[in-house]
Amino acid sequence: MTRNLDPEDLLHELGVTEPEEIDLEAIAFHCNATVRYRSLDGCEARIIGHGDHAIISIDARSSHQRQRFSIGHELGHWMRDRGTAAFVCKKADMRRRWGYRQDPESKANEFSANLLMPRFIFRPAAEGMPITFDSVFGLADRFETSNTATAIRLVGFGSYPGMVVCHGLEGRNWYTPGPDVPSVIRPHRELHHETAAFGLLFGNQDVSRSMLVDADDWIDHRDAHRYTIYEHSISVSSDTIVTLLWWKDEAQLVDLV
Ligand SMILES: [Zn+2]
Repeated sequence: MTRNLDPEDLLHELGVTEPEEIDLEAIAFHCNATVRYRSLDGCEARIIGHGDHAIISIDARSSHQRQRFSIGHELGHWMRDRGTAAFVCKKADMRRRWGYRQDPESKANEFSANLLMPRFIFRPAAEGMPITFDSVFGLADRFETSNTATAIRLVGFGSYPGMVVCHGLEGRNWYTPGPDVPSVIRPHRELHHETAAFGLLFGNQDVSRSMLVDADDWIDHRDAHRYTIYEHSISVSSDTIVTLLWWKDEAQLVDLV
């Protein structure tokens, strides 16, 4: 097999065309890597390569979705550093952002996201879907991926402009805009008290309804008060809220720039 295949080439080589066919253990086998599940202390997953073969160890106590992401992550290391791979990967490594960073953990995360939710399968699966968690739950179920990773993919490859925003008790943790959202459109650092996300963070519900709200509740822009935006928020832990924001009417976005 050729070295350093990218995830989409790998899936094409295996004839994968549907989300349900993305079998991580079979893909690992194809790449000469064996996956083992065991209790790991202090890390989420690790890989040790020797010559042409690698052993990937995955924490048996992690969720199914996290295990799949970890296998993809370790395969990312393997495809780049075959023969010499020896990585011990912690939870924080698996969360490291990608897109512009070149460090090995970010690159491994990018590889995993592209393997689990490749553009050529995800885009048609998400076509025409509103950017809401109802869409995310359905897609996450098909792709066997986490809600947050799937939400990021939906704004990246979906049919409408939108962004994913994550807030904690200290304010905004991060946000990921879709490709059609201009960089001047940024969410507020602090949650506005009238948002559903605020209600989730300081209340006791887990999911809000998808709703049309004033854009200036969310967007830090002098003209935002003239427009509306769709918000759908969920609580992913006791102190973390993830929100999908999107525009059904792209003209509003164009006006704001
Ligand atoms: Zn790693």
